[in-house]
Amino acid sequence: MDVKTVAVLGAGTMGRGIAYAAAFGGFRTILQDVSAAQLAKGLAYIRQSLDEGIARGKVTAEQKERTLANLSTAATIPDAALEADLIIEAVPENMKLKAEIFAALDSQAPAHAVLATNTSSLSVTEIAAVLARPARCVGMHFFNPVPKMKLLELVRGIETSDETLAVARAAGERLGKECVVVRDSPGFVTSRINAMIGNEAFYMLEAGVASAADIDKALKLGLNHPMGPFELVDLVGLDVRLSILEYLHRTLGEKFRPCPLLAQYVKEGRLGRKVGRGVFDYAAGKAE
Ligand code: NAD
Repeated sequence: MDVKTVAVLGAGTMGRGIAYAAAFGGFRTILQDVSAAQLAKGLAYIRQSLDEGIARGKVTAEQKERTLANLSTAATIPDAALEADLIIEAVPENMKLKAEIFAALDSQAPAHAVLATNTSSLSVTEIAAVLARPARCVGMHFFNPVPKMKLLELVRGIETSDETLAVARAAGERLGKECVVVRDSPGFVTSRINAMIGNEAFYMLEAGVASAADIDKALKLGLNHPMGPFELVDLVGLDVRLSILEYLHRTLGEKFRPCPLLAQYVKEGRLGRKVGRGVFDYAAGKAE
């Protein structure tokens, strides 16, 4: 199947990045959100990213114009899905919400459309179970910031067909991504490994093995990680990381038991950069 039109549901951190990459990659792209403010922010982000690309010599004025011409917005799912060949859902990580959206897509999207989810940890098979066409459902797990990050994890649910996977791969490659195929299992490859490293870093901090700044420094300079585990969790959000760990603990067992220190920080409201304080204190600009 030749994908011409991509609909992206949710214009938050991920949706706006996916819409940018899709429109830049030449697809007619429809970005949808229930919030008009989020849609406006999404469009502003895309314009700003294009302008930054021009300033850095990576994007031409013609590419900017073409990308913006490829892009439109929609307030409702039926408006977005009506003519889409590929629909990528990027609404909050909540199974009930995603199930509702996929049930709506089942009746409103064209029969040939591939229905993809950008979930970072939920089961693609469980999402597909609400569909009369589970073979058309696949996980397309992008990374933040989407325009810069090279990887796309393609997640194959129990019912995902070869053709659906091929459509998702071809679209991902046109978005400039390198694809890996992962069987549907909790946390896929990336979220599972990342949660394990981040949790272990908290256990080490709790045990006084080293300071947070030195643990970050050790992983960056000794193991060549681009960011330390605490810098990263402050960016992701400690509450988001805790809920991923709780899910992995429930599904994969004891080795993912969330470190009590992480749970304590969340209780104290130390959620990361978004509130000015997580493992590090950004207001004071120093490590705790
Ligand atoms: P976000 O909160 O930034 O954005 C979600 C958007 O969805 C919001 O703009 C919200 O208004 C909109 N929304 C809520 N209900 C909706 C509905 N019923 N219909 C349409 N839009 C609706 O979230 P995010 O960080 O972009 O995450 C989205 C998904 O991507 C989640 O499943 C998350 O796990 C996954 N993900 C996130 C990251 C990341 O680093 N943030 C990375 C990979 C995958």
